[in-house]
Formats: sequence, structure tokens, C-alpha cells
Amino acid sequence: MTAAIVETLIARMGAGRVSLDPSDLEAHALDWSSRALLARRAGEPSSPPIAVVRPHDATEVACVLEWAGETDTPVIPFGGGSSVVEGIGGSGHIVVDLSNFDYVSDVDTRSRLVTVGAGVTGPQLRTALESSGYLLGHEPQSHDISTVGGWVATRACGQLSAGYGGIEALVAGLEAVLPGGRTIRTKIAPRRSVGPDIGALMLGSEGVLGIVTEVTLRVTPIPEIRMDACLRFDHMRDAIAACRALAQSRLSPTLVRAYDAEDTVLLTMGLEDPPTGPLLLMSFEGDDASVRAEAAVSLAGGERLDDSIVAHWWSHRNAAVGEYTKNMSGAGLLGPHAMIDTMEVAGTWTVLRDLYHSMKERLGEHADFVTCHVSHIYPDGACLYFTLGKSCTDDEAAATSNEKWWAIGMTACLEAGGTISHHHGIGRLRARWLPDELGESFEVLRAVKAALDPQGIMNPGALGLAPR
Ligand SMILES: Cc1cc2nc3c(=O)[nH]c(=O)nc-3n(C[C@H](O)[C@H](O)[C@H](O)COP(=O)(O)OP(=O)(O)OC[C@H]3O[C@@H](n4cnc5c(N)ncnc54)[C@H](O)[C@@H]3O)c2cc1C
Repeated sequence: MTAAIVETLIARMGAGRVSLDPSDLEAHALDWSSRALLARRAGEPSSPPIAVVRPHDATEVACVLEWAGETDTPVIPFGGGSSVVEGIGGSGHIVVDLSNFDYVSDVDTRSRLVTVGAGVTGPQLRTALESSGYLLGHEPQSHDISTVGGWVATRACGQLSAGYGGIEALVAGLEAVLPGGRTIRTKIAPRRSVGPDIGALMLGSEGVLGIVTEVTLRVTPIPEIRMDACLRFDHMRDAIAACRALAQSRLSPTLVRAYDAEDTVLLTMGLEDPPTGPLLLMSFEGDDASVRAEAAVSLAGGERLDDSIVAHWWSHRNAAVGEYTKNMSGAGLLGPHAMIDTMEVAGTWTVLRDLYHSMKERLGEHADFVTCHVSHIYPDGACLYFTLGKSCTDDEAAATSNEKWWAIGMTACLEAGGTISHHHGIGRLRARWLPDELGESFEVLRAVKAALDPQGIMNPGALGLAPR
């Protein structure tokens, strides 16, 4: 039956667009979530797609989605596969791999816009923009392993969000193909009042509403000057208060991160004489960067440390990718049955301190370590990013720990008035808490899904939208 369906796909798309190579199917079976990495380590059988399709343009994507509708076959869009929330998974499905959407237009320097294919990776985009003296400013830790389409579909947020905003601030317009094959394209304009923003529906849609094929992004000339500052505090509450003061000031930092004492240990690994205690890292860009940096130091309080700690952060800012995979492969400091996971939540300044203490204490009872940093700041609140680790007796115990962490962490977050994800998204991992997070709006989400994808073929199960 499956073979017959795949034959009709090949007949429609051409053999060159459809891969049935077992290693290719396996490479598209799972994402980078802890449970997926654990399954790989434990040698558990995966549920690979029945085919990987690599279309070349939106017309071909429309053709695939038409075919999927006719044959009632589930479809999972695939960018870099770096989701950490089980955004990729399922059974009996095909994967649409966007890697052929790898073009980058010339920068429209007058409007500071660039139009790119959804499969463009972080490094491809950076290289193309740098040659014209521009940058995007979206710097997730997974920059090198993720794609523009994935950033849009997960409502991602980079580490320089204080200066450049989350991906939603950088998207000027997009093209997407909806189930059945209709293609929508938003008009590019600095702002519009033309009814609800239909294009924005795709931001955070996690592949359940359609496939993003092209994105127009706002870019910025590469700044020539950067000034860093590092401060130490006796208590995390003082570092959090400093973050709020900065977020509510007009000093426009590019980077603000406040590490609790335990996270400082991870941050400063490799430094010769590492400082202890909560640290605040800041960077400022532009001609008046040094004036704003000095004003921020006065505003924030704390003890001034060597600013080179911030330079250390810049040069190691994406090292977590390697550390995470090393530990989850069983070759790291936590031993062969390690469990590592991260939980990024957000809350207003009014609830943030309670959110921090509640999650840290409750999670701490079930992990060898729980560290936290404030990683994205806004005038009304911030993101808290927890890292959890445990050296387990076997892989079953590792899976049990992970299950417990999520149940405890999400419950504690909701009880403290936080929001359950700041930037990783929902996927399948957080699906069971989404109705509590959204309340009545969850029914609206279901109605939108039913209207755009009545057969429920797009990424079934993600965002808690019923698997078929
Ligand atoms: C070590 C590590 C660090 C990370 N750091 C960050 C961080 O700093 N900030 C952050 O925001 N995230 C981070 N992430 C999470 C992840 O990298 C992001 O969610 C990223 O945006 C996913 O992009 P991707 O191209 O890999 O998407 P994928 O993993 O391929 O897909 C993610 C979801 O989007 C859907 N999708 C993908 N492409 C499309 C498309 N073109 N159209 C429609 N749906 C699509 C998929 O079906 C899936 O549901 C990190 C992940 C890891 C492993």
C-alpha cells in the first residue's frame, strides 16, 4: 500500500525529487529534542518518513501538497531538523525538505530588505549578507544548524534579541503554500492596517498550517563598534532588577544576559580564573556604544569585572550545540546515561522572581543541577532559560527523569503565571500544556487548523492538534 502511494508521488514529482534512501529517511525521522537524542543513543527503532521530497520552487511544493491531499498522506516540513520540542516525528508521513530553497537575493539597500528561500541556513545567510556589509541580527545558538523557514515556523528568538528583536520583528513578508496547494504571499510594506495579518499566522505555525517557502527579512548595516561590560552581583534578584532597569531604559543594548551562580559555572568553563556568583553580560553597538555602556554600568549597579568575559561569551556563544550532543551521546561529563534538557519560559517582571524561584526549586529536587539565565529582555518582562542535567543509572531512568522534569516544570510555570515557551515552541513535547496556556484561544487555533487543513495532514500532533 505504502509502496503504491510512493509510486504515485514519484510519478507526480519525478524520481529526482523523491528520496527513498534508508539513511536519508532515517536522517529525517527525528529532531534534536532530548528524547529523540536519547532514542538514538538507546538504539530504539525510529519511525522514518515513507519518502523525503525535495521540491525546487513553490509550484512544486503546491504539487506535493495537492498530491498529499488526494492520497490523504501526512506531511512534515523540514528545515534543519534542530527543533528541541519534537516538532519532527510521526508515522506514515512524507517529509518535505526545503534545502533546495537556498537562494538569497541582493540586499535592497534603500529599504534594507533581503528576500531568501526558506531553506537558507544561518551560515548561508550570514555569508551572503556580509558580502554587502549587512547582518540580520538573528543569532540563535542553533544558528549554524537551522534555517530561515524553521525560524519563522517556530517563532524563534536569537541571543541578540535585545538589539534586533525576535524573528517576528525581522520578517517583512513571506510566501507560503497551504494544504491543497494554494499559495499566499504577503505584500511587503513597513506596516499595514488591512485586517488581521494573515502572513503572521505562519509565524509559530510549526508546519501545521502549510509550508513557508520564501521570506523577506529586514537587515541592518554591520556596526563597526561594539562595547562590552560585565558586572557581578551578590544575588540573582539584583541581576534580574538590573535587567529590568536596562529593558526599561533608552540605552538600547544589543545583548543582555544575567546568569545565576550555577549558570556562571557553565558560562565561565575554560576561563583561567573564573568569577563566581551571578553575572550580567552586556554589549552595545554603534558610534555612541561606549557612552551607553558606561551609562548602563551605572544604572545596573554591581561590581565591574573584566569585560573580556563578554568576549569569551561571544566566541563561545554557540558551543552549547556541541556540549548538548556530546552529553546526550553519553560521551560527556554526565556519563553514558546522561539526561540534559533546557526549558525556556517567560513572564512579566511582576511574576519573574517567583517564576525563577518556583521552577528552580521544584526542578532542583529531580536533577543533579538546574541552572538559569535571563536571556531575552523586554520593557514588560523577560525569558528565563533553565538548563537541567542528571547522571542516570540507565537510559530508562534518563527517560523517566525527563518526563518528570517537563511535568513539574510546565506546571510550576503555569502556576507562577509564566508562559510555557519563549522561543523553542510547542511541538509534541509541550502539546499537553497548550490548552492551559491558551485557554479559549486554543479553540480558535483548532478552528483555523480545520479551515486551512480540514484533512489534518500537516504535521499531525504538533501544537497539540490531534494526530490522525
Ligand atoms: C543546541 C540548540 C540550541 C538552540 N538554540 C535556540 C535559540 O537560541 N533560539 C531559538 O529560537 N531556538 C533555538 N533552538 C531550537 C531550534 O534550533 C529552533 O526552533 C529553529 O528555529 C528550528 O529551525 P530548523 O530549520 O531546524 O527547523 P526544523 O527543526 O526543521 O523544524 C521546526 C518546526 O518547524 C516546521 N518547519 C520547518 N521549516 C518549515 C517551513 N519552511 N514551513 C513550515 N514549517 C516548517 C517543522 O515541521 C517543525 O515543526 C536550539 C536548538 C538546539 C538543538
